Amino acid sequence: MTETVNQSFNGETLTPASPGYDAARTVFNGLVDRRPQRIMRCSSAADVAAAIASARADGLPLSVYGGGHGVTGSAVVDGGVCVDLRGLDGVAVDPEARIARVGGGATWGVVDAATQEHGLAVTGGRVSTTGVGGLSLGSGSGWLERAFGFVCDNLLAAEVVTADGRIVTASDTENPDLFWAIRGGGGNFGVVTEFTLHLHPLGPIVFGGMLLYPGFMAVDVLRNWRDFMRTAPDEVGSGVALITAPPEEFVPEPARGQPCVGVVIAYAGDPAAAPGVLAPLLEFGPPAANLCQPMPYVAVQQLLDPPNQKGMHNYWTGDFLTDFPDEAVAAWVEHGFPPVSPLTQLIVVAGGGAIARVSDDATAFGNRSAPFNLHMLGMWPPDPSQDQANIDHIRGLAAAMKPWTTGSVYLNFIGDEGLTRVESAYGPAKYARLREIKRAWDPENVFRHNQNIPPA
Ligand SMILES: Cc1cc2nc3c(=O)[nH]c(=O)nc-3n(C[C@H](O)[C@H](O)[C@H](O)COP(=O)(O)OP(=O)(O)OC[C@H]3O[C@@H](n4cnc5c(N)ncnc54)[C@H](O)[C@@H]3O)c2cc1C
Repeated sequence: MTETVNQSFNGETLTPASPGYDAARTVFNGLVDRRPQRIMRCSSAADVAAAIASARADGLPLSVYGGGHGVTGSAVVDGGVCVDLRGLDGVAVDPEARIARVGGGATWGVVDAATQEHGLAVTGGRVSTTGVGGLSLGSGSGWLERAFGFVCDNLLAAEVVTADGRIVTASDTENPDLFWAIRGGGGNFGVVTEFTLHLHPLGPIVFGGMLLYPGFMAVDVLRNWRDFMRTAPDEVGSGVALITAPPEEFVPEPARGQPCVGVVIAYAGDPAAAPGVLAPLLEFGPPAANLCQPMPYVAVQQLLDPPNQKGMHNYWTGDFLTDFPDEAVAAWVEHGFPPVSPLTQLIVVAGGGAIARVSDDATAFGNRSAPFNLHMLGMWPPDPSQDQANIDHIRGLAAAMKPWTTGSVYLNFIGDEGLTRVESAYGPAKYARLREIKRAWDPENVFRHNQNIPPA
C-alpha cells in the first residue's frame, strides 16, 4: 500500500518560546543539550509526512524522536526540526491473531502492559521507558530473545513514512528490500509510524529476578554463568553485570555501596520447572541477595528501571565477543572494578537460542552467532567534573577487551564512534546492500541524524 498525503500538519509545534519546549527537548542522556529550531509533535503518519516536508522545504536538518533513549541523543538536532513521535504511542492487541500494532513512539512499558493483559508477550527492551522505535530498528535485544528472537525477528510489517512523504508498508510481500533494511538498519530508511509484531504466549507469571554477589566473587560468578549459558536452554534469558550494590533494603548492610555482581534471570518456560533448569545458577553461592522467584513478567521488565533514570550523564560502548575465556573474564573484572561511578553497569548478555537460528542473511542485522555481547554502560551524576574519569574508565575497559572481540558491534549499545564502526556492525556485503537500499529510499540522506548509513 502506498498513500500520498496532503501535507498539512495537524500536531502541535513547539519553538524555544513555547512552554514545555525545554522539557520536550531533553533525552535520556543528560550529556546531550540540543536546541531544535522547532519540535513538531505528530499524532499520525500524515503529521510525520508533513513534518518531514516542512523541514525539507526550510532546508533544515531533521531528527526523529522515538523514546529519546539513544545514547548519542540523535532524537534532537541543534537548529533543526525534531519530528516528535511520542504522541504515536498506541498499542492495539489482537489476541486471536497474536499480533500487536504498536505506534512508532510507544515505550516498552506500554507494550508489555497491553500484551500481558492477554497472556502474550514479544521480546522487548530491558528498561520499560525505552522507545520501541529506536530499539526495534536496531534489531531489539531483550530477555526473551533466546526464546523468541530479537524484536526484528517478530516484526511482521511496518508502516513507514519515506523521505519524500509517502506512507508505505514494509513486509515480506510489500517493499521487501525496505523490510529487510529496517530490521537492523536503524532509522536510516524512513520513519516507522506503526510496528506490527508477532506475540507469544507468556506469563503473566514467569520465574525471574536477580542474584547479587559480593565483588570479590566476580571472577567465579562470571565463569559459572558463562559455562551455564553456553549450553542453556532457549527459555533462559540472562545477563551478568558488574555494578555497585544499591542502598536498598534487600541488600545486606555491609554490601551496600560496594562493587558487586548482578545476575539477571528471565525464564520464558514453565515457572515451576525453572528452579531445576536454573539450578547451576541458583545454587552457586552464597549470593548476598537472591531476588529470584515467580513474579509478573512486567515486574521482570521493570527490574532495571530504578538504576536507569533519565538525565544522568552517559558514555557507552559495546563489542561482540568471540568467546569469554578465563583470561577475558579476568580482564573484564580487573579493568571494570572498581567502577568510577556507582551508577555504571558493565553488562555481558548471552547470545544463542532463537536469535542464532535465524539465517544471517534474513535481516540487515547480523552477528547472530556471537555467544556474548558486551555493553559497557558508563553512567554518573550530571556533574561535568566527573565526565572525563568516567569516559576514560569505559574506554580503558573496552581497549582491554579487544583481544576477544569479533570486530563487530551492536549499534544500539554504542555512542558516536564513526562510520567505520557502523560499517563493522554489518560487514562489507550487507553494508553495501544497505547503502543501495538507502539510495533507493533516501537518496539525499534526509535521515542522517542516527547511526548513519550514507546512500551509495
Ligand atoms: C536505559 C536504556 C536501556 C536500554 N536497553 C536496551 C535493551 O535492552 N536492548 C536494546 O537493544 N537496546 C537497549 N537500549 C538501547 C536502545 O535500543 C537505543 O538507545 C535506541 O536507540 C532507543 O530507542 P528510542 O526510540 O528510545 O530512542 P531515540 O533516541 O528516540 O531514537 C534513536 C534513533 O532511532 C531512530 N528512531 C527512533 N524511533 C524511530 C521510528 N519510529 N522510526 C524511525 N526511526 C526511529 C531515530 O534515528 C532516532 O534518532 C537501551 C537504552 C537505554 C537508555
